[in-house]
Amino acid sequence: MSEQPQQICILGGGFGGLYTALRLDQLPWERGMRPEIVLVDQRDRFLFTPLLYELLTDELQTWEIAPPFAELLAETDVRFCQGRVVDIAVDQQQVLLDGQAPLAYDRLAIALGGITPRADIPGWSEQALPFRSLVDAECLRARLRDLERQPERDKIRVAIVGGGYSGIELACKLADRLGTRGRIRIIERGTEILKGSPEFNRQAARQALSDRQIWLDLETTVTAMPKGAIALDYRGRTDEIPVDLVLWTVGTRAVPWLTQLPLKQDERGLLVAEATLQLVDHPELFALGDAAANFDASGQRIPATAQAALQQADFCAWNLWASLTDRPLLPYRYFPLGEMLALGTDSAVLSGLGLKLDGPLAYLARRLAYLYRMPTLQHQLAVGVNWLTRPALTALSQLAL
Ligand SMILES: Cc1cc2nc3c(=O)[nH]c(=O)nc-3n(C[C@H](O)[C@H](O)[C@H](O)COP(=O)(O)OP(=O)(O)OC[C@H]3O[C@@H](n4cnc5c(N)ncnc54)[C@H](O)[C@@H]3O)c2cc1C
Repeated sequence: MSEQPQQICILGGGFGGLYTALRLDQLPWERGMRPEIVLVDQRDRFLFTPLLYELLTDELQTWEIAPPFAELLAETDVRFCQGRVVDIAVDQQQVLLDGQAPLAYDRLAIALGGITPRADIPGWSEQALPFRSLVDAECLRARLRDLERQPERDKIRVAIVGGGYSGIELACKLADRLGTRGRIRIIERGTEILKGSPEFNRQAARQALSDRQIWLDLETTVTAMPKGAIALDYRGRTDEIPVDLVLWTVGTRAVPWLTQLPLKQDERGLLVAEATLQLVDHPELFALGDAAANFDASGQRIPATAQAALQQADFCAWNLWASLTDRPLLPYRYFPLGEMLALGTDSAVLSGLGLKLDGPLAYLARRLAYLYRMPTLQHQLAVGVNWLTRPALTALSQLAL
């Protein structure tokens, strides 16, 4: 009688989940010991979020940054299941899906990412556009096209709430897309943009905003979003400013139903994991990426970034494998590689590993680093060949030589 293979379920096909699945598939399993690996995601495609802005300027196409899971997993033994996870029956070791049969698991990796939290501001639900998913980017493109097609509209006024990475990158890309028609302002509650970034990056970002005449409202809070306007409070004085679009880039929080599970969470509802990425009191459950409140083996808190999720994916895959093959599990160590930001359609800035670069060369370096980070060699090749044959990048690569 043959034994049933063990089941590994990976929830979420983002940077944490997809890369865990791909890595797990490559690990050596003894004959007859290979488990069934199932990757579950509500969408049919992966999204390389750091390049999402490039869809707004047509620098990149959807297939390049959002390849379908079916394509990415075609050469692997990983089974893809498209479905929306609605609950995890921890005691029964089952994942509950919306409208589909439950999935049983022996090991479960939770990599469901986060969501943009709703703000308790009048008009927020009607006016604020988040920028997190492919649907958000497509919705923004449609709104921009609509505004651009109105010849009577002299200026297109965009308010971007949040002066973090997303706010700055969005502002520069939109300014380059809209040109002289654009009137862009960033609204930031703090006293500075890019809090926590290296000064070199912050300085380059400030310069890029100033070159594009992007208005910066620091120490300013959004108090209301009536139709066609935004109310801003600066040191107790409120002004209402007319706007055509409000983009909301602030915050990340846990997927709401995850916070209802009988699993240890931090004050933000993120799953508390050990350095091995196993959940406290549940060694069969692993959590990584934005859904988890992870501390690495040296006790440092792991940032909610693709960079960290990718590094965790390697450890998660290894530890899933080790836990099924009676080997010791490895504690995760986060290795910060630095940060990169796109500053418009021809410039970027990066700091890390002792290197500081800005301008077109940084733009090229960022693109190449992301190409290297894309999932599967086949996809990297398809995208790389496409980039080489596209005029804009060819011009830039000539500049670099
Ligand atoms: C616009 C943007 C730009 C960014 N730029 C950078 C950058 O330059 N550098 C950087 O390091 N980080 C960047 N980040 C952050 C980075 O994207 C995240 O930290 C990273 O994606 C986290 O990986 P993850 O696997 O935890 O979640 P995700 O990559 O978000 O993946 C979560 C997956 O879970 C799926 N999912 C969620 N809920 C369910 C459900 N109920 N059922 C089924 N599937 C579900 C989602 O569809 C998604 O595919 C950026 C984020 C955004 C939004």
